[in-house]
Amino acid sequence: AAEPDGILTSKGMTMRFGGLVAVNNVDFKLMPGEIVGLIGPNGSGKTTLLNMLSGVLKPSEGTFKIADTLLDGVPSHKVAEHGIARTFQNIRLFNHLSVFQNVLVAALSTRGGKDAESRAQTALERMGMSKFAEMDAGTLSYGDQRRVEIARALACQPSLLFLDEPAAGMNREETDALMEMLRGLTKDLGIGILLVDHDLKLINQLCDRIAVLNEGTLIAAGTPAEIRKNPAVVEAYLGA
Ligand code: ADP
Repeated sequence: AAEPDGILTSKGMTMRFGGLVAVNNVDFKLMPGEIVGLIGPNGSGKTTLLNMLSGVLKPSEGTFKIADTLLDGVPSHKVAEHGIARTFQNIRLFNHLSVFQNVLVAALSTRGGKDAESRAQTALERMGMSKFAEMDAGTLSYGDQRRVEIARALACQPSLLFLDEPAAGMNREETDALMEMLRGLTKDLGIGILLVDHDLKLINQLCDRIAVLNEGTLIAAGTPAEIRKNPAVVEAYLGA
């Protein structure tokens, strides 16, 4: 039987830096509305994989496509046009622009700028940030800045969102609120989410599936319950 189409499908993704194989032959699929957590020890290749999938790095080998469009070789500033948006581990807002302007910049840079203002407004509402629209981004709390970053990604109307440590620096309450919002994005908008985080509680509570990298190789993928029971994961990731 034919496999269902993912929003994102990668085959044989490999990245070499000189003699080091940072990501090794990764096959991966993400379905619409699915939240997948990417975990693994430091140096296991998580960032490198995200960078390839968002056009920042050109893979040494392998292909990936979003829906039916092959994207390897498409530069990062063009990837958003194909429905991929991401946030970074380090917050990258313009501190002296308003929250609205920050989101508007992203909206203007996609879809030819069409309906940019309304896309920016909708994205801020989605993340509960409308009330801060006129404030300078740099004056917001760290957790609120992270939410503005996600709003900025949403203003591009992605089908797929990559989040690199979205809850870093958030307290438990902010993290719980963020999880609710992310669930809403997948449920209401059908967006797929791929996130990297070290917070295993967040990963376990939020993700439909977890993918585990170890030394560049995808050693397991499955539901949180399956991953917790997987001996290879326990050994590699938890050092047991
Ligand atoms: P993670 O995000 O899981 O911590 P990374 O993807 O950052 O892992 O790194 C995977 C491996 O690739 C590490 O050994 C790292 O040192 C190496 N690496 C990452 N980026 C580069 C680069 N630009 N040049 C050389 N080696 C790199």
